[in-house]
Amino acid sequence: MRSPFQLLLDLFDEPKPVPPLPPDPRPALALDDAVAPQGFRHPQANREAVLGKVLVGYHFRRVKRRTIGFVVGPEGLTVSAPRWVPLAEVDDAVKKKSRWITNKLSQARERGERIEAARIEWRDGASFPFLGEDVIVVLDPRHAFSEAGAMLNTDAQALPGVPRCTLHVGLPHTAQPQQVRDVVQAWLMRQARRIFTERLDHFAPQLGVRWTRLSLSSAGTLWGTAQRNGAIRLNWRLVHFRMAVIDYVVAHELSHLRVMDHSPRFWETVATVVPDYEHLRGQLKDEPLPPW
Ligand SMILES: [Zn+2]
Repeated sequence: MRSPFQLLLDLFDEPKPVPPLPPDPRPALALDDAVAPQGFRHPQANREAVLGKVLVGYHFRRVKRRTIGFVVGPEGLTVSAPRWVPLAEVDDAVKKKSRWITNKLSQARERGERIEAARIEWRDGASFPFLGEDVIVVLDPRHAFSEAGAMLNTDAQALPGVPRCTLHVGLPHTAQPQQVRDVVQAWLMRQARRIFTERLDHFAPQLGVRWTRLSLSSAGTLWGTAQRNGAIRLNWRLVHFRMAVIDYVVAHELSHLRVMDHSPRFWETVATVVPDYEHLRGQLKDEPLPPW
């Protein structure tokens, strides 16, 4: 039976018998088994291919370019081809790229799921990571916390595994998620400046360098930069991580005031103050931050 999807394809395509595919000589990836039941489908899928055991619905576009292009984004696979390339050739190219495509699609899905799981709903009871610990938002309209807007309480009596920190936010229970988020962000940015300054002052003498200025950034996953004149820029969202990770980034940027590249001499410099930097560096890459 033909699916409505197949009919749709036929509108774009001259109906031609599809030759049976030669058996794939490569062993199937374990990954294929994991994704086989659901497959992948781009929301604008207008063609599909079976890659290994995986059904992939992809968005196919005719474009002005010289070669067939493949892009895997959060929505799925997009294939673009010049107008003069026959569809059979596009199918062949997709088959040849199948391992790359299914790997990329799996990675994109996993990333999407992790980001979704880390998404925060900004209301009373929301939690967010601060210095590697979960902090619970408590809307507390009785307090204005005038200059700060929010205040952190820690409860040493809390049970293991239960967040022991609460951030009391001076907003009514009717506050919009955006308002709650803004107050928490402003609070986190103040903490970031305080903590980073303290850690810069801690490591600079040990490395024999002088930092001159600290600015906060929020640039994606660029955690920090250093300039020859001693100006340091650090991503305020580092305060989500535990202190050891922050220390690694601070030491990394300060070490650039000695060695301006990532040569072995640079990493030796980092290791003099943060010996387990490799492990900490890995954590920065592995742990997804909540989308802000
Ligand atoms: Zn660097």
